[in-house]
Amino acid sequence: MKIYNTFSKTKEDFIPLNPPKVTMYMCGPTVYDYFHIGNARSFIMADIIRRYLEFKGYDVNFVMNLTDVDDRLINRSIKDNIAVEKIAAFYSEEFFNDLYSLKIKPASFFPKATAHIREMVDIIKNLVGKGIAYEKNGDVFYNVKKFENYGKLSGKKLEELEAGSRVEVNEQKNNPLDFTLWKKTKEGEPSWESPWGKGRPGWHIECSAMSTKLLGKTIDIHAGGNDLIFPHHENEIAQSEACFEQKFVKYWIHFGFLNIQNEKMSKSLGNVFTAKEILKNYSAETIRLFFIQTHYGGPLNFSDELLGAAKKGFEKIKNLAITVDYEINKNTTDGTDLGFDFNSYYQEFSNYMDDDFNTPRATALIFDFIRNVNKVMAENSKINSIFYQKVKKFLQDTAEDVLGIIHFSELYNESNGSIENQLIELLLDIRTQLKQQKNYALSDLIRDGLNKLNIEIKDSKEGTTYKKNT
Ligand SMILES: [Zn+2]
Repeated sequence: MKIYNTFSKTKEDFIPLNPPKVTMYMCGPTVYDYFHIGNARSFIMADIIRRYLEFKGYDVNFVMNLTDVDDRLINRSIKDNIAVEKIAAFYSEEFFNDLYSLKIKPASFFPKATAHIREMVDIIKNLVGKGIAYEKNGDVFYNVKKFENYGKLSGKKLEELEAGSRVEVNEQKNNPLDFTLWKKTKEGEPSWESPWGKGRPGWHIECSAMSTKLLGKTIDIHAGGNDLIFPHHENEIAQSEACFEQKFVKYWIHFGFLNIQNEKMSKSLGNVFTAKEILKNYSAETIRLFFIQTHYGGPLNFSDELLGAAKKGFEKIKNLAITVDYEINKNTTDGTDLGFDFNSYYQEFSNYMDDDFNTPRATALIFDFIRNVNKVMAENSKINSIFYQKVKKFLQDTAEDVLGIIHFSELYNESNGSIENQLIELLLDIRTQLKQQKNYALSDLIRDGLNKLNIEIKDSKEGTTYKKNT
């Protein structure tokens, strides 16, 4: 099995430290708001990597942290006049709800930063003791010049960084690139005792402390969004390796950016969608299928048209799953199981996933499998139910357990969570038929009627999609 390691910029053989155990750490959310669809992509892809490692027989200890003290939380607290703890508790709960809705397996541990202050202080003390960190009026900074090869993950050289430095100017720092380990707190902010007075930790030190506490000094896999490579992950390496004097991470995995309708997602463009909003119109299976059709490391464009296409794909899997369930219940014993080569499909699935988790190829294989099974069913009137059991098993092992794009136990649940969505879809199906019959008066009546209910209809090559505007 090969994994593309951001550190070496090559695909490397995956050899964990203590097989069959695998330790995996993923930078989690700062719980000051709902998470957006770009974060959802990272969480889902990390989930699939973890599930595939388990499929391969590894025992994965997967940790995702929650940042529950941070500038953004404090700013939100001041703006809304609500205590930091209350905001953090509310959005932590919402974070778990959204993971559940997206069918993401819970991590082995979800440590909170505020529960690990002592571990953070210990690392900072160690770094100060070694002369790598320094204190100035209650703040503690990491002196990046003291760490050999600072920039080795992102491939940035210290001199270049200094020349192009736009890091905020802080009078206290010796060097603008030095980063905060401990921050002296202002009146009314959450604070903890430390050898440097009352304060709170910087963001980077949280991950070094929690990953070490729960997974050890060297971990197999560290994952996160591309935007975290610099400075966050660079700083995690500097902290952990200077403190513990051993390699911090064997394999660095980074998830690509998500664009919205070909534009960068940003608050100023007003195109930031939360996972919750997308889940109103699409099922978790459709959203997951949409994400996995692009490799995790590449950029991905997000649009209603593409999600609409993924939805059609999901319907194909679901239709076969329903048929298969129905046929298994009939328990037919005559006929043959047709000598269908299931093993080669398993083999190919593993080959693709072993190649740096190539989910686009693995998904294409599943659709190829579905096409061939449908063909076999169309060509043979008598099929032994053993065949259907094998079809179901293959779909469960791959599409359900690893990719999470079908759930046999939920086949008969409403796919989008409400009768309303199903009625809209029924109307859209009728409208498509009316258009094919060139009955434009009636098809327009449906469109206009839905528009009046704030349901926007979009026609494209892939079919018709809709969006509920609230
Ligand atoms: Zn982190």
